[in-house]
Amino acid sequence: MNNIEPFIRDINDFPKPGIVFKDLTPLLNNPAATASCLQQLLTLVGDKPVDKVVGMEARGFFFGMLIAQALNAGFVPVRKPGKLPHHTLTETYALEYGTDSLEIHEDAIKPGDRVLIHDDVLATGGTAAAVCKLVERLGGEIVQCNFIMQLDFLDGKARLKGYDVGSVLTY
Ligand code: 5GP
Repeated sequence: MNNIEPFIRDINDFPKPGIVFKDLTPLLNNPAATASCLQQLLTLVGDKPVDKVVGMEARGFFFGMLIAQALNAGFVPVRKPGKLPHHTLTETYALEYGTDSLEIHEDAIKPGDRVLIHDDVLATGGTAAAVCKLVERLGGEIVQCNFIMQLDFLDGKARLKGYDVGSVLTY
């Protein structure tokens, strides 16, 4: 079924020397590939009920919004600090060097909401684990974390133990 791989390209030394970046812009540029990717993400979700889809800035927004529409669920953006205009909750997480933070609107998730977390890539899992914490601090119940790509050599799944984790492509 996976016919989207040709639309993901490797960019060497981006954003830093030594990193091979998976670029999904060719996928976004092709409506048939985008439709196929969306269908495969929806297949991962199956018939699990979902109230909210949370997508991470910025590449989690593209398919996060499409998934939310297809599931008749609300879409909730998680953003870098200072970008969301209303009252926010912040989660800070460790990077290889230093820390980073993500924010969510406090009123975006209600206790008991069934939440699907979506991003383009699962790498080390730090980002997704921080988003899980934000959702759970607001009382949301995480139904699944799904990704277009999972970079298995970085073992992000280990950071998401106990959650249902799915991806369309695995590298
Ligand atoms: P993690 O926190 O799992 O190490 O990194 C995942 C985050 O970094 C995601 O938000 C994802 O968009 C971004 N990311 C890391 N590596 C790549 C990559 O190779 N390609 C793309 N498109 N995003 C990446």
